[in-house]
Amino acid sequence: MNTANLLEFDLEGLAAFCEKLGEKRFRATQLFRWIHQRGASDFAQMTDLAKSLREKLATTARVEALPVLTQHESKDGTIKWLFDVGDGNAVEAVFIPEDDRGTLCVSSQAGCAVGCRFCSTGHQGFSRNLSTGEIVAQLWFAEHFLRKHLKRNERVISNVVMMGMGEPLQNYTALVPALRTMLDDNAYGLSRRRVTVSTSGVVPMIDRLGADCPVALAVSLHAPNDALRDDLVPLNRKYPIAELIEACKRYLAHAPRDFITFEYCMLDGVNDQPEHARQLVELVRTHGISCKFNLIPFNPFPASGLLRSPQPRVLAFAKTLSEAGLVTTVRKTRGDDIDAACGQLAGDVKDRTRAAERMAQRRVMSERPIVLHPVRKTIPQEH
Ligand code: SF4
Repeated sequence: MNTANLLEFDLEGLAAFCEKLGEKRFRATQLFRWIHQRGASDFAQMTDLAKSLREKLATTARVEALPVLTQHESKDGTIKWLFDVGDGNAVEAVFIPEDDRGTLCVSSQAGCAVGCRFCSTGHQGFSRNLSTGEIVAQLWFAEHFLRKHLKRNERVISNVVMMGMGEPLQNYTALVPALRTMLDDNAYGLSRRRVTVSTSGVVPMIDRLGADCPVALAVSLHAPNDALRDDLVPLNRKYPIAELIEACKRYLAHAPRDFITFEYCMLDGVNDQPEHARQLVELVRTHGISCKFNLIPFNPFPASGLLRSPQPRVLAFAKTLSEAGLVTTVRKTRGDDIDAACGQLAGDVKDRTRAAERMAQRRVMSERPIVLHPVRKTIPQEH
């Protein structure tokens, strides 16, 4: 018999499901707490639910996690899981412990159709969107695994960043109920400031997110002008920088934080020159947007043909931005030894879009990309 996986539902969805079983809303709240706060998957355990309800659930519903294919723990405490999502596809989630927080980086798609040049997921192509349940299952598993692993009775994951595989705003319908579950006090109870959606710039969906479920917003900018960004983040050809920044400004009216985080992956000789930093300052001034910059050391992988900017150049770039009054941080790389660092999440993707092939062609065609200094031709070592 076909049963419903209850991880697919936010509280509203679960209430509707319970109603169909002839149950009141408060039963859905109890059930939701058992699943998300206590990590229960066996209805027989849920002793404060009426026996009749438990029996109904046993024949109509299930709480089903994603099978874990591998788990790797870095010497810095970062843990990466590879989850099987069926049909030859696998996605990754990464837990990053820090002194004052525990962050889980979650995937939203098996692969990604955007095809950013510096991104390992982008090079793999796209297979399909994850369902709400598959997004939530990453958090559900990680939170309850970590409580046991770290022998903690309280919440371990304090922050979620939708920065794993995929462009979350191209999977909007599944994303929003997943975000609502993360925020719900009867589930994970994360504050809106501690849940971040990272996008490469799907402008119409930025507006919808602001209206439907505003959380912190990070934007993968990576270039200060359209010519360079068209090359690095192909979605820019559809939604150029000026449109994107105006959408960010509109988002700020709803956002839980009063700034947008711009992510900027530092690529040697491509986007890391003093001129690029000056153009960024100019861009922000022209649009008058409240923002923060996060400079990310690139994690090279052979297919990209790109290299990491040397640290002194990253620091000089950060200095130019800071001196112009822009709050700028340089991201520490974490989990390098288990390929869990930013841009390294690759999973396994059955590419249905021939994106990998197209990207290989683009690499050939862009022998001389639009850069101030040409990309070095040396192939980096394995990461
Ligand atoms: S950086 Fe994000 S949007 Fe770009 S290809 Fe990678 S996963 Fe997709």
